[in-house]
Amino acid sequence: MEDFRIDKRVAIVTGASRGIGRAISERLAKDGRHVVLVARSVEGLSATEATIKSAGGSCEVRVCDMADGAAVTALVEGVAETHGRLDILVNNAGITRDTLLLRMTDEQWDEVMAVNLRAVFMACRAALRPMMRGKFGRIVNLGSVSGISGNPGQANYAAAKAALGGFTKTIAKEMGAKGITANVIAPGFIETEMTDALGDVVKAAVLPNIPAKRFGQPAEIAAVVAFATSDEAAYMTAQVIVVDGGMAA
Ligand code: NAP
Repeated sequence: MEDFRIDKRVAIVTGASRGIGRAISERLAKDGRHVVLVARSVEGLSATEATIKSAGGSCEVRVCDMADGAAVTALVEGVAETHGRLDILVNNAGITRDTLLLRMTDEQWDEVMAVNLRAVFMACRAALRPMMRGKFGRIVNLGSVSGISGNPGQANYAAAKAALGGFTKTIAKEMGAKGITANVIAPGFIETEMTDALGDVVKAAVLPNIPAKRFGQPAEIAAVVAFATSDEAAYMTAQVIVVDGGMAA
């Protein structure tokens, strides 16, 4: 395998082809990380890569379907092996399969669990050994206010996002003495393709419940991820950090 050792912190960001994941990737690259951009869409990943490289940042593209457990493990282990290190893991890839529980199919439940929960378990498990070897690790898993408050039509999504809280706090407790932190960042309503799909009626109903009186921007989540994955954030671990303009309070 090609030896491509890098003298900067190596970060994996899943779901980097658009939305919040693209903003996180751009921000981490701007902050001097080498960012491994992961998603299924080569076009989307290439667009993120082009933006980062034109700004002088360092990144690479790895196509991976996070629903494929073996591929997730191979991805994380491969990045650690290629670069001889893995410092930061941001599990951002996520999907919705919204419908009321009465109508929810087994497939809708399983698809959401596979990407939003099982893939996170597999990526984190594979990341721990290289992080322990480096005596440094920053894990951020993207939750949601739906996982805190629940949300009609999102029983599958809310369950997966809520589970990330217990899962991530457990990593923090198991790894606390090893220089590895683990936190959930739980966005509220952020303007991306995921929320565009909800339509104007839902958006108009949500807006009055946001004290900030606006929807959030991907860069506002990226800024919090940038801090949580920084060297300075060594004492912040086992937290679910809500970034929602006050919506869930
Ligand atoms: P988005 O615009 O729909 O983007 C989702 C990203 O995940 C894309 O890059 C997509 O890439 C990737 N992805 C989906 N399925 C994948 C799979 N099987 N394998 C690999 N990558 C996959 O979503 P977003 O709004 O940016 O949300 C990002 C994260 O924040 C998600 O975890 C979401 O649940 C969470 N969140 C979002 C909001 C919000 O208001 N937007 C609120 C709370 C939480 P490909 O399609 O190219 O694979």
